[in-house]
Amino acid sequence: MPRVSYTAPTTIDDAVKALAASAGLAKVLSGGTDLLVQLKSGRARPELIVDTKRIPGMIGIREEGDKFVIGAATPGVMISADERLTKAFPGIVEGVDLIGSTQIQGRASIAGNLCNGSPAADSVPALIAAGAKASIVGPKGRRDSPVEDVMLGPRKLALRKGEIVVSFLLPPRPPRSSDAYLRFIPRTEMDIAVVGAGVSLTVDGAGTVTAARVSLGAVAARVLLVPEAAQAIIGSRLDRAAQDRLEAAARAACRPIDDKRGTVEFRIDVAGVLTRRAAMIALDRARTN
Ligand SMILES: Cc1cc2nc3c(=O)[nH]c(=O)nc-3n(C[C@H](O)[C@H](O)[C@H](O)COP(=O)(O)OP(=O)(O)OC[C@H]3O[C@@H](n4cnc5c(N)ncnc54)[C@H](O)[C@@H]3O)c2cc1C
Repeated sequence: MPRVSYTAPTTIDDAVKALAASAGLAKVLSGGTDLLVQLKSGRARPELIVDTKRIPGMIGIREEGDKFVIGAATPGVMISADERLTKAFPGIVEGVDLIGSTQIQGRASIAGNLCNGSPAADSVPALIAAGAKASIVGPKGRRDSPVEDVMLGPRKLALRKGEIVVSFLLPPRPPRSSDAYLRFIPRTEMDIAVVGAGVSLTVDGAGTVTAARVSLGAVAARVLLVPEAAQAIIGSRLDRAAQDRLEAAARAACRPIDDKRGTVEFRIDVAGVLTRRAAMIALDRARTN
């Protein structure tokens, strides 16, 4: 393996400077569950690795007013263990819970899941459905970007040189709001999503959906936000007709690949089914939240 330099700064400023000053490829290290595998296999050949875990705030979950802020390098186990976050965003926690095994979740972060640039990343659809923003710091300062705008395609990100995701901001939760994430894999665990569906919604006192966001993973070159699917259920009580519209809109958004793990037709079909089921779970949760 060629020589790789490693640094573990204790401020965001130093991390950004190190990344920006690197002449060749520089990589942020969070949990390393993707990056280390890629280093060993030779798929990633950075000249510099910047470990962000010693920077205060990169690991941990805090509430700022009525918003949750999740540090970018927070491992899955900490996210799953947070009861208040789980009550407000059970779908996000479901997505995180599905990443790898207990060992993987001791390290794996949602920043790494997003910035690895896989359309099948399990935590991303629920984050998008929830309306999460990624807080990004770079040489030109800080910007907050909707999570759906961070990944452009497989391994392609909208991050500029020197930029780091430092945290995720979750919006305030109105009463009677909840979410759900479901994925289909060919095995019972430890596999890559063939389809993933995240739905977040709010209902009024009569059970009518007043707001919704729907996101699909593994059915296109990037994780999709599907506004047409949300529109299909807003104003309804998720009766049978609304569920049918939801399924149709979800299927219409899919542009999947055809591979040994799922044909185009299969992925499109499953995307409709999972979206419907995730919406019904989110509805059930929202009624009592
Ligand atoms: C056995 C095994 C099973 C797995 N199962 C699943 C699964 O079921 N579902 C799933 O979605 N994934 C799975 N993965 C993949 C991986 O665990 C996840 O993608 C994980 O969330 C990556 O997080 P990390 O913190 O380890 O990322 P890292 O490996 O540290 O980083 C991944 C990429 O993101 C970049 N990056 C990391 N943090 C930042 C940041 N703050 N700012 C900018 N760029 C950053 C890195 O430079 C790198 O390119 C599995 C991996 C293994 C080894």
